[in-house]
Amino acid sequence: MRYFSTNHKSKHVSFREAVLKGQPEDGGLYFPEQIPKFNFWKDFHEKTKEELAFRIIKPYVGDQIDEDSLFQICAETVNFDFPLVKLSDSISVLELFHGNTLAFKDVGARFMSRCLRYFSKKLNKKIVVIVATSGDTGGAVADGFWQVENTVVFILYPKGKVSQIQELQIASLGGNIKAIEVNGNFDDCQRLVKTLLNDDELRRRFYLTSANSINIARLLPQQFYYVFAYQQWQETSAPVISVPSGNFGNLCALVFAHFSGLPCEKIIAACNANDTIPRFLKTGKMQIKPAIETLSTAMDIALPSNFVRIMEIFKNDLKKLKTKLHAVSISDEETVQAIKRVYQTFSYILDPHGAVGFAALEKYLEQSHSKGFFLETAHPAKFDVVVKILGNDVLKIPEKLKNLLSRHKESIEIDVDHLKVKDLILSFCA
Ligand SMILES: *Cc1c(COP(=O)(O)O)cnc(C)c1O
Repeated sequence: MRYFSTNHKSKHVSFREAVLKGQPEDGGLYFPEQIPKFNFWKDFHEKTKEELAFRIIKPYVGDQIDEDSLFQICAETVNFDFPLVKLSDSISVLELFHGNTLAFKDVGARFMSRCLRYFSKKLNKKIVVIVATSGDTGGAVADGFWQVENTVVFILYPKGKVSQIQELQIASLGGNIKAIEVNGNFDDCQRLVKTLLNDDELRRRFYLTSANSINIARLLPQQFYYVFAYQQWQETSAPVISVPSGNFGNLCALVFAHFSGLPCEKIIAACNANDTIPRFLKTGKMQIKPAIETLSTAMDIALPSNFVRIMEIFKNDLKKLKTKLHAVSISDEETVQAIKRVYQTFSYILDPHGAVGFAALEKYLEQSHSKGFFLETAHPAKFDVVVKILGNDVLKIPEKLKNLLSRHKESIEIDVDHLKVKDLILSFCA
């Protein structure tokens, strides 16, 4: 399989090159030349998670990773549970928070880090990963890359603007994970990363890459859990699937899986008040407003970067896209009501992102007789607002979080100055 750029200017590359580079020079996103068809339906229900993951990803990787190693990478990527839990007759929830950092981003981060480890064995340079985070990405990347040989990871985050749990997930592992606390905001962090990734000296000395969700090695493995969910799906009709969406990576993975043959009646893009895509589907015009802060912070994104890939899958045919994709904007008020109602009715605790997914699905099912599921993208205990809404005693703190709270933060504080960060990178990677 080879990958082209959605801007059609950069040359086609292999899986290996697409992963190492992250993004093509022309500013587009890598996209596979074909979308393969899934070929595992025979004895589907008897297949293990590892086997399914391997069969899904193999055509995308081609011969760039040998089969034994790829199977091992898949097994390490999916080594936790992905239960589909029934809430009511028509609504189920796919729990994606059983990984190490209690969020779905664990899947992509684990897969990508292990691909890089494999490729690094044949490189004579260190791999340096530089990533900016406003929250959950940092934790998943830190955990996924921890102790991966030949790789040093620099995570830049805005000082005082991430939660205590998120900060400890980034800054308490040590070793090859370097936490950089920036005296600025998230945009400053992103700008620093961009400048550093383009620095000639760093590019000469190391294999420089980022670990954000535009990398295909983070995006493609997110197809795995949709297939695991379908394995657990008991109904005769195909499910409506509601995906809480920010950068639309998770939703894009579902669209790939669906084009490969995964049955799905409708895909719902569940957005918060950042409603660029719901408005686009309504009006056909892409009008971007500045991002608004909401309760579902990981989805506070004005222009979802993966949407160009979704348009590419549908060959830029908006009419066709609209027959499959439905997009809804859910307000903070509706999010809070959903958290309360789901707790009172089903004794189930939602996090704010899952609550947006639930509310969007519930609305859609009011005008159809279908059944479906939504994704619970992170564990509710990661968000203080859940305690504020439901009170102190309802939430059980998972062991993984309790262990985390006993660890110590170790970070380097730095001003918004790319030369200082560069010196730091050079001194750590000498
Ligand atoms: C990143 C994230 C999302 C949004 O996922 P995208 O792939 O960016 O659309 C939703 N919920 C949580 C908890 C996240 O961390």
